Amino acid sequence: MQVTIDPHSGFCFGVVHAIEVAERELQNNPFLYCLGDIVHNNMEVNRLKQMGLVIITHEEFGELHDCKVLIRAHGEPPETYQTALLNRIEVIDASCPIVLNLQNVILRGYQEMKTKNGQIVICGKEGHAEVNALNGQTNGTAIIIGNEGDLSKIDFSRPVRLYSQTTKSVDGFLKIAALIKDRMDEITLDHPVDFEWNDSICRQVSNRSAQLKEFAVRFEVVIFVSGQKSSNGMILYEVCKSVNPHTHLVSSPGEVNKAWFVDAETVGICGATSSPAWLMEEIAQEIRKIT
Ligand code: SF4
Repeated sequence: MQVTIDPHSGFCFGVVHAIEVAERELQNNPFLYCLGDIVHNNMEVNRLKQMGLVIITHEEFGELHDCKVLIRAHGEPPETYQTALLNRIEVIDASCPIVLNLQNVILRGYQEMKTKNGQIVICGKEGHAEVNALNGQTNGTAIIIGNEGDLSKIDFSRPVRLYSQTTKSVDGFLKIAALIKDRMDEITLDHPVDFEWNDSICRQVSNRSAQLKEFAVRFEVVIFVSGQKSSNGMILYEVCKSVNPHTHLVSSPGEVNKAWFVDAETVGICGATSSPAWLMEEIAQEIRKIT
């Protein structure tokens, strides 16, 4: 059986950067606190924990004083930096530059909307760390749209600036933008309402969809490697499955099922932007061993 690993799969540069920052700090310190999982992949988190990374919650962060804390690629809202200042916590900021830029763009949009009685709308997952950090730029006033049903939260007679969590799908975002525009046009025929949408989706994710589709159709069986907590991972898994129904989601070598490979000659292994290359290699070895 021929087992091929997708050369484009693996961590995005934001996550690679955060892990490198953590590893560098841990060379000189016995441990380092990290606010939330550094990456949505348990295997990689466990590897870093063994090196001394200590994952903490926001509640635990609030209790800390005089120490170092790593901020992961998702970024944090302004309150986190204020707490750090008050509690003499040294922030090791590994926020992804793309996320930081989006935070600044949303902050500017929020300031503009305040002068126009408008609304900031973010397409994203309620409670997701990146969305919390983005919403923090608006003092927690942004309207979070997880699906079409949430559109009723918007007042279509008032101005809107629309943004997206960086890991959402482009198609889904464009659909939401079109629906908002339609509803605004319906109720404000004679006086168009100020509406701008900003495509703030990370191309490390959206470009990967097309690459993955090309990869997944080439194989009889596809193994998609991702932790189930990764929203990017779940989107890309569905992308693979849409072009190859023989796609299976696994997060560790132990989840590989021999029955998936009966009569198969070719297997492709790919993953999310949160899937480590070493894990994809271990899963390839496991498949070669059991088939
Ligand atoms: S997916 Fe994009 S925005 Fe998110 S951490 Fe990676 S590079 Fe940054």
